[in-house]
Amino acid sequence: MIEISGVHKSFGTLEVLHDITLTVPAGSVTVVLGPSGSGKSTLLRCINHLEKVDRGRVRVDGELIGYRRAGTKLHELSERHILKQRARIGFVFQTFNLFPHMTALQNVAEAGGGIELLERVGLADKAHSYPRQLSGGQQQRVAIARALGRRPKLILFDEPTSALDPELVGEVLDVMRDLAKAGTTMVVVTHEIGFAREVADTIVFLDEGRLLEQGPPTEVLDKPRHERTRAFLSEVL
Ligand code: ATP
Ligand code: MG
Repeated sequence: MIEISGVHKSFGTLEVLHDITLTVPAGSVTVVLGPSGSGKSTLLRCINHLEKVDRGRVRVDGELIGYRRAGTKLHELSERHILKQRARIGFVFQTFNLFPHMTALQNVAEAGGGIELLERVGLADKAHSYPRQLSGGQQQRVAIARALGRRPKLILFDEPTSALDPELVGEVLDVMRDLAKAGTTMVVVTHEIGFAREVADTIVFLDEGRLLEQGPPTEVLDKPRHERTRAFLSEVL
């Protein structure tokens, strides 16, 4: 499980995350909603220490991310240890980030996976294709297979379908739905409200770096407490 407690993050004078506290239980799916610039990507990046938090803590399965405790002080982990922690956290980006000179299978193998992971995303027959020979949806499914390679404790998804043509969105959401059913711990930034309603255990709404709402879809989507949430939902629905 993920425990985010009291996280603050600024870039210069711009406060991007303000006092974020959020628990993601093992095997659950949390969907993060919010307007552009509200801090969604930064929050994901703080979870795997791609960004350093200014204050607060992130723990994954009880393990402090990015730091070790020495007496009362925290020291940043060495690059080697940070990479080791990061390898256990899958990250799927909006742009698929595959190695262009490697086949689908080589991309997955590079992350410790194999053909069975391509099978899992329905792409065993494309094992020897290069990214440029695959559709956007297929490339994103390879990226998900690659994220599964190191048997991650959790997978973070940052708008995994927003770069795709509309007709390719469904196949990627289907793979994510299967992962959720299999009990993968997931944090998903997406504007796909239908997916959020169906798959999310918890929906959180970020606005200007503040976590304004969190709760099950039936609360956050159907009975939002804040005017900002209502305004956002009326735009995306
Ligand atoms: P979007 O929906 O457009 O992806 P987001 O909610 O993911 O937006 P973030 O990417 O987390 O938003 O950015 C939050 C704010 O932090 C924005 O104002 C952005 O310009 C700023 N920001 C993000 N990364 C940096 C950085 N490395 N340096 C300076 N400012 C940054
Ligand atoms: Mg973003």
